[in-house]
Amino acid sequence: MRIISLVAIGQVDRALLETLAEGLTRRLRVACSIQPEGLEVEFAYNATRRQYHSTEILGRLLEQPPGECWKVLGVTEADLYIPILTFVFGEAQVSDGGAVVSAHRLRQELYGFPADLDLLHERLLKEALHELGHTCGLRHCADYLCVMSASYGVERIDLKRAEFCPACAQALSGKDL
Ligand SMILES: [Zn+2]
Ligand SMILES: [Zn+2]
Repeated sequence: MRIISLVAIGQVDRALLETLAEGLTRRLRVACSIQPEGLEVEFAYNATRRQYHSTEILGRLLEQPPGECWKVLGVTEADLYIPILTFVFGEAQVSDGGAVVSAHRLRQELYGFPADLDLLHERLLKEALHELGHTCGLRHCADYLCVMSASYGVERIDLKRAEFCPACAQALSGKDL
């Protein structure tokens, strides 16, 4: 059984991790294990941007993969960035073992709406599937309903489904996701 190891990066609500683990297990033929020890996040803080550098987090995450697992997925509440972009929802090592996703910009409160936990969980699942798709070598997909379509805002995340389109699913079929 392939195992996705979920690692909290900084302070992350346990229920968020558990719901994500359930969602991934339901969508993919994998097991998820939530690591008892998370990673701290402060080393990746950029005081000028007041955000966290996702590539540094990803590097740290892959330095010490937690035991035997197929993929490592870091989950954080920190607001992530890479230098060329204002922010990122997540980042993956293409065709490699790990990715990181952030819940920060997936929360309705950030946009002045009441909190919506179901929507938050759905968005986080989509972003996790998307980044895991990259770790299996998938690129962005032109089908806006496909989970591999690029998301530059939450509206686009809400538009797409928590599923791979037939072409992406086909491309993954040889890669066990
Ligand atoms: Zn992407
Ligand atoms: Zn697709």
